[in-house]
Amino acid sequence: MKYLVILADGFADEPIERLGGKTPIMAANTPHIDKLCQMSKCGYLKTVPDSLHPGSEVANMTIMGYDAAKYYQGRGVLEASALGVDLEEGDLAFRCNLVSEEDGVLLNHSAGHISTEEADELIVSLNEQLGDDVVKFYTGVSYRHVMVIKGGQNGLSCTPPHDVPGERIDTILPKPGVDHPTAALLRQLMHRSNDLLNDHSVNVKRKQQGLPVANMIWPWSPGYKPQMPTLKEMYGINNGVVISAVDLIHGLGNFGGLQSVFVEGATGLYTTNYKGKADAAIEALSDNDYVFLHIEAPDEAGHEGDVELKIRTLEDIDEKVVKPCLEFLEKNKDELSIAFLPDHPTPCEIRTHTREYVPYMICRPGVEADSVAVYDEKSVYDGAFGFTDQTEFMKLFLSGKK
Ligand SMILES: [Zn+2]
Repeated sequence: MKYLVILADGFADEPIERLGGKTPIMAANTPHIDKLCQMSKCGYLKTVPDSLHPGSEVANMTIMGYDAAKYYQGRGVLEASALGVDLEEGDLAFRCNLVSEEDGVLLNHSAGHISTEEADELIVSLNEQLGDDVVKFYTGVSYRHVMVIKGGQNGLSCTPPHDVPGERIDTILPKPGVDHPTAALLRQLMHRSNDLLNDHSVNVKRKQQGLPVANMIWPWSPGYKPQMPTLKEMYGINNGVVISAVDLIHGLGNFGGLQSVFVEGATGLYTTNYKGKADAAIEALSDNDYVFLHIEAPDEAGHEGDVELKIRTLEDIDEKVVKPCLEFLEKNKDELSIAFLPDHPTPCEIRTHTREYVPYMICRPGVEADSVAVYDEKSVYDGAFGFTDQTEFMKLFLSGKK
């Protein structure tokens, strides 16, 4: 048996008044998703443990079959892995944003979505001036980078910068405030980065162009290399791939022992190359047992609060992803199981993730479908799987049995 997960990030939503109480997927024209539903059993899945925030990395980890409460170690380690940084024991990895500071206030978390090229110049300077045997910076994409502290102590409380735009920086620095050498080092590095980057030629140019400057580092989400068993060790999956435009998802795949497949034109936005990703998934199924196809676009539409855009991303997924996968299934009826689901809701009205249960469906040869004929947040209430807790999903997917 081969397994294909089609993950439509953040597509689940709430009833929207001006859609007559429908959610985006209810309002969208999705005949192929519904056809898959008519061949599937459905249920609700809890993807976020109570102890963690409803981040994509947490929810996707659950769907890959990991107990996230046990294995989650923050974003830093996942992004480090996606950048090819080899973490050793005792290395504490952080997501390190380049942010805009002005008069002691955090203006924004992204330095105006600075280009990777400009950011790389700043990271090179940071390594020259602040880097040493203990501290190292690694260039990622745009404002999203990685910092590693050798022998760093965790037990830190670092504020995600996108949560606190406009706050006074002295109130939101890493804690604890006293008697914690790594917290003290972080605060010192942040202040020194500010001194160093303020007058950097990249920022002088940005100021002249009226763009936000990238004049401070903001390390957060610290963690050590997770002790994650691979999917092979846990579930006997011999080989598999991850297809995604998002670093975090590739990082997860790396720790899970999955290969990364990169598709040209996969942007993580509604402009993404849906068809190319579906083709890559189908191709990967010829010599892999497990394919995790992650599509970020509906989540982005949810964060933008754009209902029409979210509907469009779902119709694109229906036509350009699910349709070809159904055609492939038609030819490989006895040997392919398909799961379709979001990782978490990103309701357009509130523009951020929630930790609600998500609707899911599994189509598996030899397993009779349930009565649910249309797939959405409400209809799966009648699904045969009922309410499913976290890692139970992977067991169901692999065995077909409750
Ligand atoms: Zn997500």
